[in-house]
Amino acid sequence: MRAVVFAGLAAAAVFCGGASAQTVALTNATVIDGTGAAAQRGVTIVMENGRIRDIGPQAATPAGATVVDLAGKFVTPGIINGHGHVGPPARDPQLRQYALYGVTTTTSMYFDQDDVQEFKRRQKAGDLRGARIMTVMYRFMSEPFKPGSENKTPEEGRAKVDEIAAKDTDFVKVWIDAQGGRHPKLTPEFTAAVMDQAKKHNKIRMSHIVELADARRMVDQGVNILVHNVRDQDIPDDFIATLKEKNVSVISTLAREEALFVYGGDGTPTDNPFFQKGLNAERLALLRTKMRENQAKDPNRPRWLRMFDTDKKNLKKLVDAGIKYGFGTDSGGALDRYFVQGWFEHRQMELMRDAGLTPMQIIQSFSKNNSEMLGIDKDFGTLAKGKAADLLVLTRNPLDDIANMRSIEAVYLGGKKFE
Ligand SMILES: [Zn+2]
Repeated sequence: MRAVVFAGLAAAAVFCGGASAQTVALTNATVIDGTGAAAQRGVTIVMENGRIRDIGPQAATPAGATVVDLAGKFVTPGIINGHGHVGPPARDPQLRQYALYGVTTTTSMYFDQDDVQEFKRRQKAGDLRGARIMTVMYRFMSEPFKPGSENKTPEEGRAKVDEIAAKDTDFVKVWIDAQGGRHPKLTPEFTAAVMDQAKKHNKIRMSHIVELADARRMVDQGVNILVHNVRDQDIPDDFIATLKEKNVSVISTLAREEALFVYGGDGTPTDNPFFQKGLNAERLALLRTKMRENQAKDPNRPRWLRMFDTDKKNLKKLVDAGIKYGFGTDSGGALDRYFVQGWFEHRQMELMRDAGLTPMQIIQSFSKNNSEMLGIDKDFGTLAKGKAADLLVLTRNPLDDIANMRSIEAVYLGGKKFE
């Protein structure tokens, strides 16, 4: 039954692609392609059937193409978010919000309903009502978290990995966090079993960590991506060497670390129109009252500030040492966290700048680096012939200041203007 439905979808997609193929040529653009190469002026980008058919100063505009003149404008790859959350439901409005802020692909890093795979197939067939989604399906957590801690023994952990692998999960993720000593952590025996089983299924392995000791454990057990930075201490040189040797990527989620205290102090973004776009009036009001009070008197406030600073320092150290660094934010999830989808990604870029990264390094992190880290670089990431036409048109140059990534004039998702 399922197979019949999917075959029908695929056939429909091919039919649509052929019948309504519309070619769009963006001309005279200044393009920053995500590879790290200098910006190139006078570029034409030809988009057709969701992909970049041709790109470059010499690319010819095909007869009959819709031409959009981008003289004086800038084009970058769409933002890939390596650590996001889509949920709790509904999915569509969240993916739409991401896309309106320029996030063209996001990860979904805790629990997704089984229909997410059919949803992904529809997206692949061109039904893009928001950012493309990639998922961990399930998050392995310790007690008392439910869902997440149902599987107790290493054998049960392996069986769960088999189950989500059969559902074609994109990644396998474990969550190691004592939350300041309040909860037990997943045991080393358990996480080793989950990592090993995920490796057998050839799945990319991810881990949420806070402390250096846990990061060391997960790297020893074969994790591919640490989806947060080490935040309990400065990263020592020997661990940097280990990360390099084992080819592990690290995502710093500075926007998240900041959001644990920023709404209760002077730096709150609540009056910022670009931030407000991502919230309704009711939620904004709560943020200005209840959330502001809670954060201002939070006894953990000094600790969050310390962790934020440590994350920044460690990020710069990792990047300078040549460790593969990704781009992620931890946006989304429970509404009362106020990890605002879309806003968070732009804020993350500015915090990476504050940590000492160049605009080019930041652009590479959300395009080339993330596509490679997530195993999707054949189709996504940099702007090149044959890749998905996911790109942003900006009115200001992001190489002058990464905050200019906010000057989005248009988002193209699969070659179509997203509105
Ligand atoms: Zn997260």
